[in-house]
Amino acid sequence: MVLAQLGESLVGALAQMAKSTVVDDKVVVDCLNDVSRALLQADVRFETVRAVQASIGSAVVNLQSLAAGTDRRRAIKHAVVDELRRMLDPAAGGGTGKPPPFFVPRKGRKPASVVMFVGLQGSGKTTTCVKYADYHRRTGFSPALVCADTFRAGALDQLRQNAAKAGIPFYGSYTESDPVRVAVEGVDRFRNADQAAAAEGCDLIVVDTSGRHSQEAALLEEMRQLAEATRPDLVVLVMDATIGQAAFDQALAFKQSVEVGAVIVVTKMDGHAKGGGGALSAVAATKSPVIFIGTGEHIADLEAFDARSFVSRRLL
Ligand code: GDP
Repeated sequence: MVLAQLGESLVGALAQMAKSTVVDDKVVVDCLNDVSRALLQADVRFETVRAVQASIGSAVVNLQSLAAGTDRRRAIKHAVVDELRRMLDPAAGGGTGKPPPFFVPRKGRKPASVVMFVGLQGSGKTTTCVKYADYHRRTGFSPALVCADTFRAGALDQLRQNAAKAGIPFYGSYTESDPVRVAVEGVDRFRNADQAAAAEGCDLIVVDTSGRHSQEAALLEEMRQLAEATRPDLVVLVMDATIGQAAFDQALAFKQSVEVGAVIVVTKMDGHAKGGGGALSAVAATKSPVIFIGTGEHIADLEAFDARSFVSRRLL
C-alpha cells in the first residue's frame, strides 16, 4: 500500500533509538539521519526532507534539558511523530482534535455538495470519481456523477457504464463539447430539488473533468473555468503514486489554477516503494491532506486516509 513502506522505514528508524540504552546526541543525530534517509528513499523531495529534519532538530534541541532515558526517548519520538503528522496534513498542524481542514460532505445536505475531481489523464481520476461516489452511497449518501470530460474519447462511456454498474445517477452529453456547459447543466440538474428525478434528494454531486496530457496550460485554464462556473465545495486532486518527485510540480500547477482542498493518491503498483514520496510531495505543494488512497482497479478499492491516525498507529 502507498505510504506503508515509508511507514515501515520510519518505524525502523525509531526502533533503533528505542534500543539504545543511553539517548545521547549521537543517538539523536543517527535517528534524524535514519528518518531523513527513509523519506529520501521514498522519493520525498530533498527540500521537504531538509525542512522536516530542521524542524525535528529544533524541537529536539528544546528537549536537551530532559534527563536521558525513557523521557527523552519518548519526547524525541513525539517530536518526530508531530512533524510527520504536520507533513502529511499541513493544515492540522500536527495537533489532535482539530476539525479537518477540508470540506466534508454531509448526508442530506441541501443544496447538494459539489466535489470536483482534477488530475492528469491516466492518473485514475474517472475510476476514483466512481469509487468516491460509491463509497458515499454505501455510507448513506445519495450521490450523482457528472462527466465534464468532453476531451477524451471514451471518458463519457467509461463513467456512464461504471455509474450504471454502481447504481449511481449520471449526467453527460454526447453532443455538447463545452465542458463548462456540461458541468453546469449536470450540477443544476442534480442540485435542483424540485425536479422529479431529484425528489429523493441528491446530496453529493461528483464532477469528473478532463485530464489531457499535452496541453497543460489549456487544461489548467479549463479547470479554472469549471471551478468558477460550478463553485465546488471541494476540489480533489487525483495523483498517480508512482510518479515520484514529479508530483510536486504537477500538484503545484493545479493548486495555482484551482483551490485544491484535498488529495487522493492512486496506487498503480501495490507496495510501490516510491508511493510515499509522490503523496507527500503533493501534500507539500497543495498544503492539502490526502483523504483517500486508491488501492486497486475495483470500485471498492478506496481507503479513507487519516494522516493523524496513520502516523500514530504506526509510530507511537
Ligand atoms: P483518468 O484518465 O485519470 O480518468 O484515469 P482512469 O480512471 O481511466 O484510470 C487509468 C488506469 O488506472 C485504469 O486502467 C484504471 O483501472 C487504473 N487505476 C485507477 N485507479 C487505480 C488504483 O487505485 N489502483 C490501480 N492499481 N489502478 C488504478
